[in-house]
Amino acid sequence: MDLELKGKTAIISGGSVGIGLAVAEALAAEGVNLLLCARNEQRVKEEAQRIASDHGVQAVGVKADVSVAAEVSAVAAAATESYGQVDILINNAGTGSSETIMEAGDDRWQYYWDLHVMAAVRLAREIVPLMRKAGGGVILNTASICAKQPLGYEPIYNVTKAALVMLGKCLANELIGDNIRVNTINPGLILTPDWRKTAGILTEGTGQSVEEYLDDIARQNTPIARFGTPEELAHFYAFLCSHKAAYCVGSTYYVDGGWLKTVE
Ligand code: NDP
Repeated sequence: MDLELKGKTAIISGGSVGIGLAVAEALAAEGVNLLLCARNEQRVKEEAQRIASDHGVQAVGVKADVSVAAEVSAVAAAATESYGQVDILINNAGTGSSETIMEAGDDRWQYYWDLHVMAAVRLAREIVPLMRKAGGGVILNTASICAKQPLGYEPIYNVTKAALVMLGKCLANELIGDNIRVNTINPGLILTPDWRKTAGILTEGTGQSVEEYLDDIARQNTPIARFGTPEELAHFYAFLCSHKAAYCVGSTYYVDGGWLKTVE
């Protein structure tokens, strides 16, 4: 299926590894030019360079912490300088947490609010004018199944991702008149390098291998009994970015191997 994305321009926050990188690859394979941002400058620039040479597209890597307002503005400035207009924005940067509500301080809540919610608000304010120049666009938010089905150890993650889902809905209503479609994806267990690292730490000295640990988690939680790959998720993002998904507006899509225990 030709997604007719060739020559479009996409910004991907957290595009240097894991899900964001897989989305970057999937879009580049369709001929989309990219601006990837992340905090680790070397990694984001190297990945952008590699994708550009692998897929024959333009790709720029920008060092930015999207939880900081001024750095979001720097991303928009880089997009303006490199491309002038933007067709696709993927709000993907994020990370899990671990705390109790009773013990976590305000600073912790604020950090995750800035990272998962305000980054998407601020990027919308900065990037939507560049989408209007293009005559429309697509915004996708990476939230999480935890927005609906919370994991006990990470209440701040659950709450801020739930807020991102609602932001996506409200933004969709506000922007569809500009021909900008906003949707949110709630992934389940997606096997990124970070999961492997965590599994390595948790299994150290236990006699259990990383693979066994990950298999156990997948079997205990998902009917499909395995993790998803970032690539399996990325195909869905590419579809949602395309005109083939023209009637998809303001929705939240689960890609979770059946993990969600309720019907939506
Ligand atoms: P990774 O940790 O593998 O990648 C996270 C990416 O975000 C990296 O590029 C990282 O680069 C970047 N990033 C993190 N913090 C910031 C920041 N403050 N500013 C800019 N960039 C940042 O995560 P995943 O690929 O697993 O997750 C991607 C998204 O998907 C997250 O929002 C996560 O919550 C969500 N998700 C993941 C699931 C999974 O199972 N993997 C399940 C459900 C949701 P750098 O460190 O250089 O900044």
